Amino acid sequence: MTKIEWVARPGTTPESWNPITGCSKLSEGCRNCYAERMALRLAGRFGYPEAPHHFDVTGHTDKLAVPFGWRTPRTVFVCSMGDLFHERIPWSDLQRIFDVMVYEKNRKHTFLLLTKRADRMQEFISSRLPELPRHCQHIWVGVSVENQQAADERIPTLLRTPAAVRFVSCEPLLGEVDLQEWLYEWRPVAWGPGPDDWACDAFENGGIHWVIASCESGPSRRPVHADAFRSLRDQCQDAGVPFFLKQIAMDNHPCRPKVVKLPELDGKVWQEWPSSPGKGRCGEGGPTRVAWQLDILGDKEKETDGQRKEKEKVEGGPPV
Ligand code: SF4
Repeated sequence: MTKIEWVARPGTTPESWNPITGCSKLSEGCRNCYAERMALRLAGRFGYPEAPHHFDVTGHTDKLAVPFGWRTPRTVFVCSMGDLFHERIPWSDLQRIFDVMVYEKNRKHTFLLLTKRADRMQEFISSRLPELPRHCQHIWVGVSVENQQAADERIPTLLRTPAAVRFVSCEPLLGEVDLQEWLYEWRPVAWGPGPDDWACDAFENGGIHWVIASCESGPSRRPVHADAFRSLRDQCQDAGVPFFLKQIAMDNHPCRPKVVKLPELDGKVWQEWPSSPGKGRCGEGGPTRVAWQLDILGDKEKETDGQRKEKEKVEGGPPV
């Protein structure tokens, strides 16, 4: 389970899955990285390296098979404690993680991939293009965008990434961002004769289908005016694209700014998701075998239930 608000899609159980943890800073949005702070708390435990290496990119082979144990449909934030497309993660490990996601039994779940390394994600997913339209409708891809520069750099690459649903997470939003030219309303198209044989047209028609926005939290939080969120909300509404407002700070608070989760903005809580591709979206077939060993690191000691629960509590915090 995770408490991340935008993962809590109606009809599914919210989840985070971390076969890889750790990362390195890339841009302004990384300055107060939540995952790094949490990794420090977990240093030397649960497979996290000792400080000062707690945030090194690390493989958790024991986590690879976790999705096979989920019976009911989940919405899964993949690698909430790092960046799945970090350059230190070997291609072979990306293949293995992907194999778990596209395994027939796991296609009832929706996996959300969010990265700042849009180039690497685009390159990797494009390399699996032949199987995508039938087997990967349940894998949504997104980039983090903190300002206009990051949007201009990452979104065009995101749009070249084959996917059923693409999204942008503006967290932490650091100022006004103009997304208008990239927003695109999701539309279903038939790909077979049956009532469930429909998918979306995003494989051929690029665009952003969902926008998440949030202010920064934590002691070094950088303030941003509510109008920056209003602007994003208005852009989404004009384009018919769902908008999710995770949190904003009340900077006029008499003592100190107070961060409010799922706030009202102009009288409404903005908690919208794109609709999911159809039930029969993923077809049959696909991988029948999955490799269980990550190349980046060997097997870890098995953790106890108590240790697992404590770790999940921490990893279930805000996204990065
Ligand atoms: S996890 Fe995300 S925010 Fe943290 S350093 Fe990596 S890319 Fe930056």
